Amino acid sequence: MSRVVILGGGESGVGSAVLSVIKGNDTFLSDSNMLTGEAKAMLEKFGVAYEEGGHSKDQILNADEVIKSPGIPDTVPIVEEITAKGIPVISEIEFAGRYDNAKKICITGSNGKTTTTSIIYFLLKNAGLNVGLAGNIGQSYAYQVATQNFDYYVLELSSFQLDGMYDFKADIAVLLNITPDHLDRYNYEMENYIKAKFRVTQNMSSEDCFIFCADDEISISHLNKIVLQAKKLPFSQTKIVEEGAFLENDQMHVHYDDRDYRMFINELSLQGKHNIYNSMAAAITGKVLNVKNEVLRDSLSSFKGVEHRLEKVLKVRNVLYINDSKATNVNSTWYALESMTTPVIWIAGGKDKGNDYAPLYELVKERVTAIICLGVDNAKLHEHFQDKVEAMYDVLSAEEAVRTAYSIAKPGDTVLLSPACASFDLFKNYEDRGKQFKEAVQNL
Ligand code: ADP
Repeated sequence: MSRVVILGGGESGVGSAVLSVIKGNDTFLSDSNMLTGEAKAMLEKFGVAYEEGGHSKDQILNADEVIKSPGIPDTVPIVEEITAKGIPVISEIEFAGRYDNAKKICITGSNGKTTTTSIIYFLLKNAGLNVGLAGNIGQSYAYQVATQNFDYYVLELSSFQLDGMYDFKADIAVLLNITPDHLDRYNYEMENYIKAKFRVTQNMSSEDCFIFCADDEISISHLNKIVLQAKKLPFSQTKIVEEGAFLENDQMHVHYDDRDYRMFINELSLQGKHNIYNSMAAAITGKVLNVKNEVLRDSLSSFKGVEHRLEKVLKVRNVLYINDSKATNVNSTWYALESMTTPVIWIAGGKDKGNDYAPLYELVKERVTAIICLGVDNAKLHEHFQDKVEAMYDVLSAEEAVRTAYSIAKPGDTVLLSPACASFDLFKNYEDRGKQFKEAVQNL
C-alpha cells in the first residue's frame, strides 16, 4: 500500500483523494485553508483522512507520492520541502490517467480552451459516443474515473496541470495558441511557459494526433525545434494545409486521411476569427474520430457557446449587450473587438496583470466610441486610450457601467464587457463580474 498525500482540497484535490482511497492507497488530504462543507462531506463519505487550516509535516513528508492542486505554486514552503526530500509531485490528471483506459482528447492553449473543449464534447456526444468532460471544467477527472466508465474523455488542461504530468499520454492533443500569460509562475521566462504547454504532446506515438495552429508563430517555432512522433494536423486561416484545416472562399476545409469536410464559416454558430480557429480544431478532431459530416455540421452550427465568453445577453432599444467577462487578458479582448461589426461602447479594466495595450490601439480607434473603465485604478487605461476615443468614464460597479452605457448608446451600437484584466479588485471572480453585468442589463 502506498501513501498518497493530496495538497489542496478543491475540486481536483477532493476527486484525487476519492480515487486514491478507492484504489486502496493510504490517503491523506491537507489544505492550508479551510475546506468547504461540501468537500468535507465528500471526504467523510469515502473515509479519507484530512486536515484543514495548515500542513502537518509528519503526515505529509512520509508520502510516497504527492498530488498537488494546480493552484499551488512550486515555491510554497511545504512543496519545497517535499521536493527537497525527493518525493514525486504529480497532478490530478497524471494520477487519474493511470486508472483510465478511455481515449483522451486533451485541449490546451492560452485562450479558447473552455470553448473548444465544450464544442468537442458537444460534437462527440451528438455523434453518440460514450464521452466524459473534465479537466479545468466541471467535475474533476479523478472523481469521474473513480465513479464512471467512459470510452472517451475530453479534457481541458491548463499549463499548471501539465506541469505535473509525466507518463500521461493524450490520444489527440490540441494546442490552440500560445500568448504570454501566467508568467509569474514560470520565472518570467516565456520559454518555460511554452515548454509547459508542449507537455500535452509528451509520450505520443505515431498513432496519435497533434492538432495545432499553423498561424501561431510561437507554436510553430517551438515545434520546429522538437522531435514529435504524433501525426501533425495544423489549422490555418492564412495558408492551405495538406492535412488539417484551412480557409478558402469563406469555407472551412477539413482533410484527414481520405476524409473531407467543408462548411461555410457563416454557418458556424460561434462567430469571430478566434471561433473559426476553435471550430477548426473541433472539426479536425471530429474527422480523426470518424464523426459523420452531418453531425459535424449540425453541431458546429448549433453549439450555444459558453457563459461569459462573447455571450449575447440582450438587445435593449436596439443596442446589443455582450458579456465577455472571461476575457482577462489583452489577446482575448483583441479577438472580441475584432469580431465586432457595429460601433462599440467598451467596458474594460480591473486588475491589470502587466498588460501591453498596444495591440488594441488600431481596433479601438476604428471601432470603439467610448470606454467605460470598470476598475479601482483606471490610470493606465486612460493613459493608453484617452486620445483614441470620444469619451471615457470611470465606474465602480457593473450596474453603474451598464447604466452609463445605456445613457450614451445609440441605436445599432454594441455594449461589450471585455475587460482584458482580472476581476479581483471589484468582484469575487470573472463569473461574478459577468453575472452582475447580465443582471444589470436585464434590469434596464
Ligand atoms: P480559456 O479556457 O483558455 O481561458 P475560454 O474559452 O474560456 O478560454 O475563452 C477565454 C476568452 O478568450 C474569451 O474572452 C474568449 O472570447 C476568448 N477566446 C476564445 N477562443 C479564443 C482563441 N482561439 N484565441 C483568442 N481568444 C479566444
